Amino acid sequence: IKSYNELLDEDLKKASQKEGVKSKGIPSEEKCPECGRPLVIKSGKYGKFKACSGFPECRYKKSLNTKEAKPLDEKCPECGSQLVLRQGRYGSFIACSNYPRCKYIKKENKDTGIGCPECSGTIVMKKTKKGKVFYGCSNFPKCRFASWDEPVSRPCPKCGRVLVFRKNLIKGKSYLYCGNKDCDYKEFIDREKIWGKKRNKEVGAD
Ligand SMILES: [Zn+2]
Ligand SMILES: [Zn+2]
Ligand SMILES: [Zn+2]
Ligand SMILES: [Zn+2]
Repeated sequence: IKSYNELLDEDLKKASQKEGVKSKGIPSEEKCPECGRPLVIKSGKYGKFKACSGFPECRYKKSLNTKEAKPLDEKCPECGSQLVLRQGRYGSFIACSNYPRCKYIKKENKDTGIGCPECSGTIVMKKTKKGKVFYGCSNFPKCRFASWDEPVSRPCPKCGRVLVFRKNLIKGKSYLYCGNKDCDYKEFIDREKIWGKKRNKEVGAD
């Protein structure tokens, strides 16, 4: 995955290759902090940005999408600045408000603490490019284990297998089923019981 800056750079290159008004951008009153030439507003595939009119000699640029960033109640572990939720081309992500000086980006993968049934890794919550949640192994791509349903750290009462999955139905009840294909265990569960309860952390020392 390319960084936002790299993407802007590509946009700039493409824009400067095209002739005409578009490549020059809309002049702004702001001066480039690096060389003093006026900045121009350009729009690329990844949103609007201000760039130095001295491009390509001067590569200064600044994103205009910072307004979309929502401040969060969390500090950057690298520089101590506030973290913000930004909207990117690949969905929302949590980054440092001190960007571009600090390039910290929080990985959104959430470790469920539940062991992978196929290797010694743990199951983490992941998102597809479209934003759909699924569960995969922390050892991906070495381990290809993946599931749409949320794993529950509870042994199957029928076959004893440690991993049971929760199928969440939008209407009606959710149910648990066993990850073992040869086992027909299925148990309907009370939504409130499950949601009211916090998952116990039964993280093994592996
Ligand atoms: Zn400049
Ligand atoms: Zn930071
Ligand atoms: Zn695995
Ligand atoms: Zn079972």
